[in-house]
Amino acid sequence: MRVCVSTAWFGEADPRKAIQTFVDEGWTCGDFSHVEWLLRQDKPVAAAGELKKFADDLGFDFPQAHFDLANTDPGFPPGPGHAEHFDRIRLWCELFMALGVKAGILHKRPWPTPPPDGRPSEEIHEAMLKGFETIAGYVKGGPTVVCLENGPSGTKGVLPVVEAVKGMDMGICLDTGHQNRGEEKCADFVRAVGSRLKALHIHDNAKAYDDHFFPYGPGGTTDWSGFVDALAEIGYDGVWAYESFTEITDKPYEIRLVKLRYAKELAKVMLGDAFEG
Ligand SMILES: [Zn+2]
Repeated sequence: MRVCVSTAWFGEADPRKAIQTFVDEGWTCGDFSHVEWLLRQDKPVAAAGELKKFADDLGFDFPQAHFDLANTDPGFPPGPGHAEHFDRIRLWCELFMALGVKAGILHKRPWPTPPPDGRPSEEIHEAMLKGFETIAGYVKGGPTVVCLENGPSGTKGVLPVVEAVKGMDMGICLDTGHQNRGEEKCADFVRAVGSRLKALHIHDNAKAYDDHFFPYGPGGTTDWSGFVDALAEIGYDGVWAYESFTEITDKPYEIRLVKLRYAKELAKVMLGDAFEG
C-alpha cells in the first residue's frame, strides 16, 4: 500500500513546490488539497491538467482529494442558489478529473455543521440522493469515483446511501478518527463495506474529540492491528492517506518535515509487508 499526506502539508502556496519536496523525500503521491490555488489561476481546469503533467513527470500522482468540506451540500435545497451550488460542484469534479484523482471524497451534508434547514429530514434525504445522481453525471466516464465519508455513525450512515444512489457506483472513504468516536470498530466497518472502500483518512483520537492525531497519538484508542488485518482481507487497493493535520497545525517547516518522515516510518511499522512506500 502506498502512503500519502495532504499536498498542503507545507501550506497552501504553489503546489509545485510542495510536490517537489515530497518527491525529494521519496513520496510518490499526495491527497490533493490545493483546489483553492487552482481556482485562483486564469483557467483552473487547464491549470489542473498542467499540474498533473508536472506531477507525472516526477512520478507523482493524486489518488484522492476532498471536496470543499464545509460548503459542499449534495442535499442543497431547490430554489435560490441551487444552480450555482451545483455548478461549483461540477467545477470541482472537472478539476479532480483533470488531475487524475481516483477518489473524490465528500460528506452527505456540509461537515461538521450543516446550515440550519427547516425541511423535514426525509425531504433532505431525498434531495441528497438526487444531488448525488446529478453529481454522477459530472464524473461519468472519468477517472474519479465519488466516495462518501463516514461520521461516527459508521456503516449505517453511509451504506444505505451509497446503495440507494442510482447512476453511479459510489465508493466509500473510511475516516478512522470519525469511526473511533462511535461504537463500531474500524475493522468491522472495512469488512461491512468491502470492495466499496476506495479511500482512507487515517488519524487517531481518545474518543472524546475529533483530534486528528497520528495513529498511537496521545490517549488514542483505535484498534490499529485489527484494522490493518481487515484491509488485507478485503484486498483494499487504495492508499494509506493520513489526515492527521493537528500534528502540523502552526508548526514550523522543519518540524513538518520531521513529522513527514515519521509518518512514513510509522506506516512502515503498521503495514508490515503491505507497505509499498
Ligand atoms: Zn476525514
